[in-house]
Amino acid sequence: MSRRLQWFWQALERVPDLAGVASEWRALLGDDDKAVARFILPTRRIAGSIRCTAPKRTCVHEIRPWKRRFLSVCPDGCEPAELTRDEVTVHRLDVATLAREVAETLGLEPVRAELVPGVAGVWHVGDYVPYSGFRFPVYLALTGEPEALSWAADGLAARGQWFVLLAPTRSAFTQAAADVIRQAKACFLPLDELVGHGDDDGLVLLDGVTAEGVLAEFRAAHVPQPKADDGMVFFPTPPGARWSDVSIRFIDRHSVYVKVKGASGTFHFAQMGMASRKNAKPTVQWLLLEAFAEGHGRLDWRSRKASRKNQKRKENLAADLQRFFPIEDDPFVIEGDGWRARFAVEVA
Ligand SMILES: [Zn+2]
Repeated sequence: MSRRLQWFWQALERVPDLAGVASEWRALLGDDDKAVARFILPTRRIAGSIRCTAPKRTCVHEIRPWKRRFLSVCPDGCEPAELTRDEVTVHRLDVATLAREVAETLGLEPVRAELVPGVAGVWHVGDYVPYSGFRFPVYLALTGEPEALSWAADGLAARGQWFVLLAPTRSAFTQAAADVIRQAKACFLPLDELVGHGDDDGLVLLDGVTAEGVLAEFRAAHVPQPKADDGMVFFPTPPGARWSDVSIRFIDRHSVYVKVKGASGTFHFAQMGMASRKNAKPTVQWLLLEAFAEGHGRLDWRSRKASRKNQKRKENLAADLQRFFPIEDDPFVIEGDGWRARFAVEVA
């Protein structure tokens, strides 16, 4: 079971500068106070003033050192009150810890949370990596101001990358910001509608919410569908896969069975981008891949198919494979007087 964290998410848009004394945080965190205590940490700073916590009062009290303790002094007639160091210590949101838990909850690849240069109040909190070769930055805007959120969306859009923007709630998300997000083909997600608190301590997705589902529309807009058609297709390589995870087995002279960790499928050479544009026949790269299969992943000068032209062909084959999977590293290594495939490749 998960429960909502309405107070907490709203508080993040109401606490100026995300810093306040414990009583100010408590007043805004309400019922969520205990569940999120780990995100609100004391700093070394002593507050210069604090809001009056008496009911119906809006005055701000000055804090003065007094007899090794502190005194709150009201300009509007409240009684002076004695306060301990703890009570006047500024507490701040620990963005790094919050970012790490949010990233984990949404199934993102975590990064060390960092402010985005030139975009005020926005943190890079993780990357969305649905498949190998597809990486989208995920940002968290911690500003409750509609204008600031709109500027933030503008600033992020100007970076020219598709992105996901998180905010505590949608209360500052105006039409202007929504327009920017739509034009940038980005995605806006309010955390209060997705992330709550589990029974044991830790953030969890709210009941009925899945990380897959939340990002489905964004993913569909930016990742080609892994469906077979006439042209080249996209193979849904799991994130983090390496060439050593790839296995290619020839079924016949025109198609292969491909497996990478949990993903697999049967592909025609044309679907792997290895059909000649002139006559739709297999390219020399495909024939070279077949030669690697016959050599159990190796190709050298003793091979029947050895040729001076193979150097260029091998480079083209590497590029074709890098495009199809996509995995960045070189799929081949030099070995002796030839090459060895870093992936498993075999004939039927
Ligand atoms: Zn007062």
